[in-house]
Amino acid sequence: MKKTGIGARLLSLLFPRVCSLCGGPSPDGELCAECRRKYAAGTFLRCPRCRQTADRCLCGTEFTESTRTTLAHRPFLALNFYIPAKRGGEDDDRVTERMILDLKSRGSYADFFAGECARQIGRLLDEAGERREDWILTFAPRSPEKFAECGFDQGEEVGRRIAERLGIPFERTLARTSHSSEQKTLRAEERRENAQEGLIPRRRSIRAGGRYLLFDDIITTGSTVRTAAELLYECGAEAVFPVALARTYPAEDRTDRGRTGEFRRSP
Ligand SMILES: [Zn+2]
Ligand SMILES: [Zn+2]
Repeated sequence: MKKTGIGARLLSLLFPRVCSLCGGPSPDGELCAECRRKYAAGTFLRCPRCRQTADRCLCGTEFTESTRTTLAHRPFLALNFYIPAKRGGEDDDRVTERMILDLKSRGSYADFFAGECARQIGRLLDEAGERREDWILTFAPRSPEKFAECGFDQGEEVGRRIAERLGIPFERTLARTSHSSEQKTLRAEERRENAQEGLIPRRRSIRAGGRYLLFDDIITTGSTVRTAAELLYECGAEAVFPVALARTYPAEDRTDRGRTGEFRRSP
C-alpha cells in the first residue's frame, strides 16, 4: 500500500525521488519518463553501413559462424547499439552507454535490462516455435580480478533475472581464469587458445544436447561469444544463441569487410 500522510511527505522531502540516471524528478526513483523515452529511441538507432537496427545489422558479426544457431531467422539478439564515448554522438545516444556503465560498476538496471531481454527472447522463441523449457540461460563471466573489484558479475545478475522471467534454468557453464592461474593450470596449447579470453568450460555443468542462451552484456568484436560458443559445443551443447544488451556501433564504412551482403550464412 502506498504510504501517505506526514511521514511519507517528510521522507520525500528528505529523500526526494529522483531519476537514477539524470537526477531529474521521478515518481518511483527509477528511470524517469524522459530517460525511458531516450532509451527506447536508442533502440531504433541504425547502423551507418547497412541502415539496420542493432538486432538486424549483420556487420561484423562473423562470430555467428561459431554460434551456428538461429531463432526466427536471427543469429543473435542485441537490444541496442553501444556508442563508446570516444566515438562522439549525441547526448541522447548516451543513455544506453551510461546505463551499461552503471550496470557494470554498481549493478544498476539489472531488472530493467533483464525485463527487456526476456520479453524479446520470449518473442523469438515463440516465433521460432521453440519451447522455453528446452533452453538454459548461461553467461560469459567477468574476470576474477574484476569480480573481486566490484563484488558481483553483471552477466550473472542480469542472466539470472532473465532466466527467472522466462522460467528456465540458469547455469554457470563457463569460468574465466585470472592471468596468474591461467599460466599455472593450462597447457601451452590451451593457453594460446584461451589467451584472448581466459574462458574455460565447467565441463561437468555443461549438458550434452543442451540448448543455451548465452548472455553477455556487450558484444564488441564477438571474440568472447565466439570462444564461449566453441567451448560449449566442444562439451556437447546442441545450440548456442547469443543475447546481449548492446553491440558496439559499427564504424563508418572504411572497408567493405563484414557488410551485410558478405554474410554468407543466410538465415
Ligand atoms: Zn532521467
Ligand atoms: Zn550494419
